[in-house]
Order: sequence, then structure tokens, then C-alpha cells
Amino acid sequence: MNILVINAGSSSLKYQLLNPETQEVLAKGLCERIGIDGKFTYKAPGKQTIDAVDVAMPTHSEAIKAVLDALVDPQNGVISSMKEIDAVGHRVVHGSETFACSVKIDEKVMAALEECIPLAPLHNPANITGIKACEAVMGKDVPQVAVFDTAFHQTMPPVAYTYALPYEYYTEDKVRRYGFHGTSHKYVSQRAAALLGKPAASLKLISCHLGNGSSITAIDGGKSVDTSMGFTPLAGLPMGTRSGDLDAGILEYLMNKHGMDINEMLNVLNKKSGVLGISGVSSDFRDLEAAAKQGNARAQLAIDVFEYNVRKLIGAYAAAMGGVDAIIFTAGVGENSPAMRLRMTAGLEFMGVKVDPEKNDCRGKEIDVSAEGATVRTLVIPTNEELMIALDTAELAK
Ligand code: ADP
Repeated sequence: MNILVINAGSSSLKYQLLNPETQEVLAKGLCERIGIDGKFTYKAPGKQTIDAVDVAMPTHSEAIKAVLDALVDPQNGVISSMKEIDAVGHRVVHGSETFACSVKIDEKVMAALEECIPLAPLHNPANITGIKACEAVMGKDVPQVAVFDTAFHQTMPPVAYTYALPYEYYTEDKVRRYGFHGTSHKYVSQRAAALLGKPAASLKLISCHLGNGSSITAIDGGKSVDTSMGFTPLAGLPMGTRSGDLDAGILEYLMNKHGMDINEMLNVLNKKSGVLGISGVSSDFRDLEAAAKQGNARAQLAIDVFEYNVRKLIGAYAAAMGGVDAIIFTAGVGENSPAMRLRMTAGLEFMGVKVDPEKNDCRGKEIDVSAEGATVRTLVIPTNEELMIALDTAELAK
């Protein structure tokens, strides 16, 4: 079985063709500058790589056509015809309260997706465009499935998702905590259960997805019960360029002081804040670690603030669940920075967390890095959102 996984943005489209049974990735790549000029990238094991070559892409349909042409190319392709694609899985950012799991797309689902647009005005329209382009190019017979970033978090109880605002903003305007990165948190929590050899239903897990965007999720019995991102992905931890949680009073103060309108303010909060804002150096933790090593105090402070907030949330979620069996680290920082993992868990010995520095000295592999005597396991689990999407898609397309 082959599943084409599509992650469509407004001017880009990431794709991966994979077999969910063997977990083999047949090909993957990227269409960029859709609607501008068009650049196409394609990589497949044992085949010639196509690296950002010019392919006209006035719309997402031409991008999908370029992907299919490359996949079935007699010399460089990996399948002999489009018939070998059994289904398409789409990443969709926001599913509101309508979607608590992945769904097979039909007209009713498309209408419901349109209704979710006001909640994710930047992302959902692009995801919908990707779905329509696939249908236009591949026809209606190829099943298409939507996999939502928010769905895994729909199990959160009201106490975790309710904001202390006038209640009508929830009932009328749908303002609540939704949470994101759900596909990643779900995937690593399932892998954690496998790694620990215990049923997910018996485990309390804290999953730390720490990349450019970062979020932490409390997972009790296989279900998300709290998560750090909120109504939008701007909430929670400080991130590469996003502020994370802050006092809403700051907005009024800064907007008045600097004559900013709300769009300028949001641009600061989304693009100029986080560890980039604190350090003035970079949003990339590798740059920050290098700068800190050379004595840059603001780079060091940015790292410290990030690590402190991760540690604080781990403590908060352990309290929220009344215990924790394992902490999972995933995504760019979580998978690749042993030094940060060590520092983020330092000070958590009181709750039974103990990391073995030697085991922890690894990157990008699935491993239990706990030291002897730890009563809370610390796990490194590379995330694989595409595989999770492909697995859900295969299940629903059957
Ligand atoms: P995204 O959220 O864009 O998917 P990733 O999960 O790929 O991001 O994470 C990207 C981030 O991971 C980079 O910005 C970088 O800060 C961090 N990162 C990657 N490798 C390392 C490393 N070896 N040490 C520290 N940080 C790293």
C-alpha cells in the first residue's frame, strides 16, 4: 500500500510517498514559490535528486502534477502509474471541535473544513487548496483523508481548555484552548508505550515537542489531557521566534508606546520574539549555543529562559496528572541536543527523573536515556508526522 502525504502551505507543498506497512519512504520533496514562479525538489533512494529546479506552478494543481509526474517518471520515478497510490493523507492545521480524529474527505467534510477557516485563517485555506488540487488532478476515486493538528487534543477536559474569559466567547465564538502538534504528540506517545512495553492506557506521559515551534502535552492513558499551545500556536513555551505565554496587558502598553497597530504587534509576537527576540542572535538553538559558548550573555539568557519554561511545564503537567511515568523529548531540539536535554531535566531528580549522560549522548534515535534508579523514564523519540498521517490514512482508506 502506498500513501501520498501532503502538507500544503500557502505557497509551498511538502510531499512524501510512503508505505505505511513497511514504513519505507519511497520518495519525498517540496514544491516552493507556488503562485510566484515555482521550484521543485524531489528525492528518492537510488534515484537522481531534483534540487529546486524551475517548474511553473501558478497554482497548487500544477504543483501536484509536478509531484505525480516525478513519481511515475520512467527513469527517475518510484511507481509505474498513479494507480499505485492508494490514498492521499493531508495535514490540516485546525479541526476545531468538529474533528476529534482523522476523517475521510467528502463534501460534508469539505464544508466543515471551510467552517474552520476563521480559527486558522493563514493555514486552513492552504490545506483546503491542497485537497482540492489533489482531487482535480487525481480524480474523485482516490480516497483523501484529513489529519488534524488539533484532533489529538480534543480529549482535553473543560478544566484544561477553558479560558477565564466571559463564557460566551467560548459558546459563541469558539475561543478555547485547542492545542497543536497533535499528530507528533500522538505518534511519540504510541512509540513510548511500545518502547516501555506497556499499554498506552496504563501510562502517564509528558511529551516535549521542541523544535522551531514547541509544545508540551500531558498524555494520560493515551489521551491528551492538557497542552501548552492554545487557541493559536502562539501560546505556551517561548519558541524560535514566537513569544509563547505573556501578560496580555503588555500588548496595550507596547502598542500605545510605539504606535503599533494589532498587525504590527502580532508580527512582533510571531516573528521577532522567542529566543530570537531575547538573544538578538538567532532563532536556531545551534547558533545560540555557539554564541553562548563565546560569552554572549543574551544568547545564554535565551537558552536559560527556554529550558526553565520546559522544566516548569513538566512539573506542572506531572501535578496535573498526579504523576508521570515518562518524559519524551522529540523534534529538532528534543532529538538532537543532548546538552539541552540534560539541563532541562536537571533539578527534576526530586520527582524521580534521572538521565544517564552517556546514554543521553545521542542524536535522532529512539532510546531510553534514564539512569539507573530513575523512577520516571526519560525517552528520546524522533517524531514522524508523515508516518502517523500515512497510518491514519491507510486505516480510513481501507
Ligand atoms: P520545525 O518546528 O520547523 O519542524 P524542527 O523540529 O526541525 O523544526 O526543529 C528545528 C530546530 O531544531 C532548529 O531551529 C534548531 O534550533 C534545533 N536543532 C536542530 N538540531 C540541533 C542540535 N544539534 N542542537 C540544538 N538544536 C538543534
